[in-house]
Amino acid sequence: MAKKILIVGAGFSGAVIAQQLSEQGYEIDLIDERSHIGGNCYTERDAETDVMVHKYGPHIFNTDNKEVWDYIQKYCEMIPYVNRVKAKSNDKIYSLPINLHTINQFYDKAFTPEEAREFIKTIGDRSIVQPKNFEEQALKFIGKDLYKAFFYSYTKKQWGCEPSELPASILKRLPIRFNYDDNYYANPYQGIPRDGYTAIFDKLLEHENINVQLNTKYDASYSTNEYDHVFYSGPIDAFFEYKFGRLSYRTVYFEKGVAEGDYQGNAVINYTDDSVPFTRVHEHKHFTPWESHKKTTYFTEYSKETEPDDVPYYPKRLPKDLNVLEKYQNEAEKLKKYTFVGRLATYRYMDMHHVINEALDVARAFIQSTKINA
Ligand code: UDP
Repeated sequence: MAKKILIVGAGFSGAVIAQQLSEQGYEIDLIDERSHIGGNCYTERDAETDVMVHKYGPHIFNTDNKEVWDYIQKYCEMIPYVNRVKAKSNDKIYSLPINLHTINQFYDKAFTPEEAREFIKTIGDRSIVQPKNFEEQALKFIGKDLYKAFFYSYTKKQWGCEPSELPASILKRLPIRFNYDDNYYANPYQGIPRDGYTAIFDKLLEHENINVQLNTKYDASYSTNEYDHVFYSGPIDAFFEYKFGRLSYRTVYFEKGVAEGDYQGNAVINYTDDSVPFTRVHEHKHFTPWESHKKTTYFTEYSKETEPDDVPYYPKRLPKDLNVLEKYQNEAEKLKKYTFVGRLATYRYMDMHHVINEALDVARAFIQSTKINA
């Protein structure tokens, strides 16, 4: 049986695999280049306000996968939480995702659901049969005016390219509703962990077979001879020392502010105009409505292209990237001792629940195969 395992990266992929394998008797070294566990889900209390801050941007747990929902709750108390995002467009505040309230506000109407449905059909671009990209998907389903007001400039700011260059799948993440439901997500299970996300990682990694080493970067010179298998959750292009070129990612950065009381009255407000350079402002005390804090901290989020020293966030998956990715994947497949897992190593736009689900599958398959081969 393969016994000694190296896991690179202490985000959900690495932590879930470590948890699963440790309970089967594998010995695990888990390394991460950062000074903390949790990857981009890391949370900590802000020293100035005591608010629980999502250091790398807001994370609202939501899933339709009951198994993942049950799994995560073994490691935390999830408090039901509904994310109700607002958008500021042309100096007015609207409800998101696009719902009956947004449509009625935007067109100054009082449509019923049926009337709105009929109306939207008349403004959608019927010449588009099979949307080939983000822009066509939007024009087909919501028409030019709503697209321009809420998506065109925001998407250009967030992704740094024309929405027509992006896949339609990015927009398909968001529902359009013909009722007043303003829940940002359509998934049945939604919550925020009472004690933040870092506490989940502490519990996932709390096993005598797991040895965590922080501030430890993995690169080609890292010796893996002593390990029977390696699970790698860093960027796939970095693993191969960028020999086929860099994959493109967007990164985000934040400007922090502190205020008394309540700064914006909501957890997230998106700024959808191009006259504003940032994409959104998040005020984290609203993610924990069960806590009370006199002061508040908020973060203005900007997006930019990832440079060598930046944290990669959003895989852009432009056609040129997919060509390069294929080359890396062909190389990766030849390395039987390595498994590439998670958002960065598979270069996909994944939510937390997708990552956890795949990590559970990968761990179980590995346990099964090593038993067979034992
Ligand atoms: N989007 C937009 N305006 C908004 C919110 C989202 O144009 O007010 C676009 C943007 O391109 C984004 C995509 O819709 O990447 C999906 O939105 P989601 O909130 O899922 O994006 P995330 O912040 O999770 O990347």
